[in-house]
Amino acid sequence: MSTAYSRAPRSYEKGKKSFEFDAGIYAHESVKQALLRAQHGKCAFCESKFAHISYGDVEHFRPKAGWRQEEDEPLSRPGYYWLAYEWANLFLACTLCNQQFKKNLFPLQTPSRRTRSHKEDVTEEDPLLLDPAVDNPEAFISFREEVPYAVDGNARGETTIRTLGLRREALAEQRRRHLSHVEALRQLIELRTPEASKARKLLQRMQQDSGEYAAMTRAFLR
Ligand SMILES: [Zn+2]
Repeated sequence: MSTAYSRAPRSYEKGKKSFEFDAGIYAHESVKQALLRAQHGKCAFCESKFAHISYGDVEHFRPKAGWRQEEDEPLSRPGYYWLAYEWANLFLACTLCNQQFKKNLFPLQTPSRRTRSHKEDVTEEDPLLLDPAVDNPEAFISFREEVPYAVDGNARGETTIRTLGLRREALAEQRRRHLSHVEALRQLIELRTPEASKARKLLQRMQQDSGEYAAMTRAFLR
C-alpha cells in the first residue's frame, strides 16, 4: 500500500484511487478472540460486555479509509491506510460505539499536525479521542453516579464522551442498574450482615479491570 500511495498520492487524496482492506485479516476470528481476551470481553469505549449478544466490530482507532475532524465534514482520504493491520490501532468495540458514534471521526487538537501518509509519524499528532491502549481513561473521565464527565473539564475527556455517545440513555440505564447492585452490596457490608464478606469479595471483583463498567464502579465507591 505504501508503494502504491507513493506512486500516486494525489489520486488517493482525491479518492480516484482507493485502498482495499481485507477484513479477513484485521477482523479474522483469531484477532477478535485475542482482542476480546485483552479487553476482558468489554467494548474498548463504553466498557459494556457484549460478547453474549453480539460479535462486536474490530474498530480502527485511526480510521483506515478516511477520517473526519468534525461530524458534518466530508470524508478526507485516504485515511490511515498504513495502520489498517497494526495491532496497536485495533480495538474491539460494540456496534453502537463503532457504527453509530465513532464512525470515521478522528479529531485532533491541532488539525495542522494531521499525519497524511506512512511517511509521517503519528506520534506527532495530538488526538482528542482517548486511546484505550495508551491513555488512562480515568485521568480524563470520571462519573457522577452513572453520568460520565470530563475531569476538570478537559477537552480530550469531553470529546471522547461526546464522540462515543457515552451519555446515551440506553447505556445510562444499564449503568444505573449496575450501580443499584453495587449499592446493595455496599449496604450488606455496612449493615454487617452475615453475607458481608461475600459482598466485599464481589465488590472487589467488580472494581477490577475485568469487571463491566469498572471505571464507573471505582468512581462510585471512592
Ligand atoms: Zn461500546
